[in-house]
Amino acid sequence: MKSSSYYGLPRFCFTPNATPLEFAPMLSKKLGIKLYIKRDDKTGLVTGGNKSRKLEFLMADAVNKNADVVLTTGSLQSNHAMLTCAAANKLGLKSVLVLKGKEPTQFQGNLLLERLLGAEIHFVDAKEYGEVYKLMEEMMADLRGKGKNPYFIPVGGSTPLGAVGYVAAAEELFKQADEMGLKVDYIVNAVGSGGTSAGLEVGVRLFERAARVVGISVDSEKQVFQEQIAEIAKECAKLIGKPISIEPEDVIVFDEYIGEAGYGKPSKAGNSAIELVASCEGIILDPVYSGKAMAGLIDLARQGYFHPGSTVVFFHTGGIPAIFDLLKD
Ligand SMILES: *Cc1c(COP(=O)(O)O)cnc(C)c1O
Repeated sequence: MKSSSYYGLPRFCFTPNATPLEFAPMLSKKLGIKLYIKRDDKTGLVTGGNKSRKLEFLMADAVNKNADVVLTTGSLQSNHAMLTCAAANKLGLKSVLVLKGKEPTQFQGNLLLERLLGAEIHFVDAKEYGEVYKLMEEMMADLRGKGKNPYFIPVGGSTPLGAVGYVAAAEELFKQADEMGLKVDYIVNAVGSGGTSAGLEVGVRLFERAARVVGISVDSEKQVFQEQIAEIAKECAKLIGKPISIEPEDVIVFDEYIGEAGYGKPSKAGNSAIELVASCEGIILDPVYSGKAMAGLIDLARQGYFHPGSTVVFFHTGGIPAIFDLLKD
């Protein structure tokens, strides 16, 4: 696997070309904005998604530290866990996944893919999941005792290093926008652990763009993510040697679109957004992240949050496999 570097940080390239930036004509007309969809559901590794970009840096770090096994954690349908396993396979490392919830009788969606990819999977009951990092520390001590060199990736890959993947994504987006003669006014994305937003916030500052990053929470309340994103962004900017000032109040997050049943469960508005985008544009969003983020974008557009005719880029962050587990009727 070829490695390169970005602002001095080692990087594996999992996506050889830029992901498409597609105009969405029908939706644009319906919403009174110019809507473009950044197809990060087409990044490299299995079915694509935003974690692939973070893993370009996280896995390069693991390999540089001579790791032979990576450990990470997430929900039962974690896209991050599945993509980590795929990246590890590509680089000849083993992967250990610790997932929140009971082992299901049938493996569907990302779980099915993880089984095919050959991951070692441990299930931790929701009641004990609060202690999961401690448990994983113990697992790593155990592995070290057996002569292994484990590398830990926190939930969602949302470390300052992982977020660098979205600084690079912002650069890629602005290059495309320049080529297409677009001035991006807003960038909208789903927020699950904050790394994607943090990288984009660094990117708009680093490349001196006026675009506002608008995060749609699918999990925690607004204040939690504003703090988390500002913190990751600050550290991320330091890592690439371009310190920025960003405070929680500079970060835009909406937490009205998490849905009735909470994180990881489809919402009515999210499912309607999935149907609308599928029927208008032939693009499939997912029920946990991008569908809810699009529900937010649609509602904000209808409320007049984006000035009329403004250029809005929606990051399609992937998540396709979860459909095959969660969207049964
Ligand atoms: C993880 C994930 C997100 C959220 O990204 P964060 O960087 O964790 O905020 C959005 N969409 C999909 C499909 C994801 O898997």
